[in-house]
Amino acid sequence: FKVPLVENEPMRSYALGSSERKALQEAMAQMEQELPFEVPCIVNGKAVKTGKLAKQPIPSDHARHLCSYHEADEATVASAIDGALAAKAEWEAMPWNDRAAIFLRAAELVSGKYRYKLMAATIFGQGKNAWQAEIDAAAELSDFFRFGVKYVEELYSQQPPKNAAGSWNRVEYRALEGFVLAVSPFNFTAIGGNLPGTPALVGNVVVWKPSPAATYSNYLIYQILAEAGVPAGVIQFVPGPPAEVVAQAIAHPSFAALHFTGSTFVFKKLWQDIAKNLDKYKGYPRIVGETGGKNFHVIHKSAEVRNAVLQSVRGAFEYQGQKCSALSRLYVSSSLWESGFKDQLLGEIAQIKVGPPQDFSNFMGPVIGRPAYDKIIGYIKKAKDAGGEVLIGGTGDDSKGYFIQPTVIQTKDPLSVTMKEEIFGPVITVYVYDDADFEKTLELVDSTSPYALTGSIFAQDRKALLLATNKLRNSAGNVYYNEKCTGAVVGQQPFGGARASGTNDKAGSISIFYRFVSARSIKENF
Ligand code: GLU
Repeated sequence: FKVPLVENEPMRSYALGSSERKALQEAMAQMEQELPFEVPCIVNGKAVKTGKLAKQPIPSDHARHLCSYHEADEATVASAIDGALAAKAEWEAMPWNDRAAIFLRAAELVSGKYRYKLMAATIFGQGKNAWQAEIDAAAELSDFFRFGVKYVEELYSQQPPKNAAGSWNRVEYRALEGFVLAVSPFNFTAIGGNLPGTPALVGNVVVWKPSPAATYSNYLIYQILAEAGVPAGVIQFVPGPPAEVVAQAIAHPSFAALHFTGSTFVFKKLWQDIAKNLDKYKGYPRIVGETGGKNFHVIHKSAEVRNAVLQSVRGAFEYQGQKCSALSRLYVSSSLWESGFKDQLLGEIAQIKVGPPQDFSNFMGPVIGRPAYDKIIGYIKKAKDAGGEVLIGGTGDDSKGYFIQPTVIQTKDPLSVTMKEEIFGPVITVYVYDDADFEKTLELVDSTSPYALTGSIFAQDRKALLLATNKLRNSAGNVYYNEKCTGAVVGQQPFGGARASGTNDKAGSISIFYRFVSARSIKENF
């Protein structure tokens, strides 16, 4: 059989008066009435209530919480691992078309029956507005599942091109021996589904620790996968104290792989911990991670100003700059800056409304929590202390929710702290360069930060695009011409970065599936 051609999930508009806006509003109203929810761990398909309760606050209204969840304790994590290992043989042996059907069905449930509920959970719990929730929890999540099935079909069809006479060579793509640990972030509900989903599609069993700040939406994903037919034990849902759960999983002799999205600091630490445990394992674990970014737009003097301004505003401030891919450092040619770029940029930002994400008129919502709020405000202060000029924003209000105004800092020092370090919030630092120094500026872009996730080049002049593409060869895993540096689409732009940004295994592409299989060559003589 062949999997039918897959398409990206069509995006809905949520225009005023539209039926989808109404449906989403109803889902939000219902959630508002029912919250807070109680979320258990799920081990072998059964709810486990450890009684160790933690809360997922609502970042736009921090006095309230979306759910209380039972943190996995040592015994729960141990039984999750044992249960996953026990479920493995049957899952791996299941015919591929049945595993494919389960994930295609999950995609239908995400894009249909549960669309608005999942979006509402993302809006309340993670602070996304309707359109950001649509891109993520509805479209990208179903795309990950549908395109994943297509990619795995392609992977399995990769066979040696030659057989000697009287023989048949074939390659079997086995699941890894042991279990996969998935550690997912708060900022994309879709990544919550993708981190356990990708390894499971190729027959692995997964112990999944979601981000505390995305517990409820991730729990809904677990339920959707179970409803779609993922058997009990194949994916174990163990929210919990991150360090403990992860340390316990990594110390287990059957640990076979890590699928991680989160901070560079944590990823490096886990890598080191895995190295320390190496003698315990049967094999060499696969380590797949997507971490931070310090993403750039470079505006050449030939750029179309209006487009570059609008794309920069969107790249920096959609979802409050809390995408790994968000624009964070902006290099603008001095002639454009003076002749309209600056005024247009500040003019657009002045119109941005910040407030509760349930309200459709707010372009920006809250940042995710107290530590994020303090860190971002701290960076603004550091930038000022280092001589940066705040052109707009620079303030926050944490009385009800964690709101920070969209902020632009101009610096004369291209190596200042906010040009280098990841902030993960609605702050851009602008460096205006002399038109004649375009090439020198590209060198700065490349060498200033340790990250290499995304970046965009704005120019009408093809030679400038080419020069930048060559000079920035290793500076980003995802490059855009004349478009913002966020918003990679599954099936269209495989996503991931290198250097300190991750292992660049490209989410939403065939490459990542190779990391979760171990091939076996079989030669048969007739
Ligand atoms: N894939 C998303 C984008 O291109 C970013 C994912 C992330 O933040 O990890 O914007």
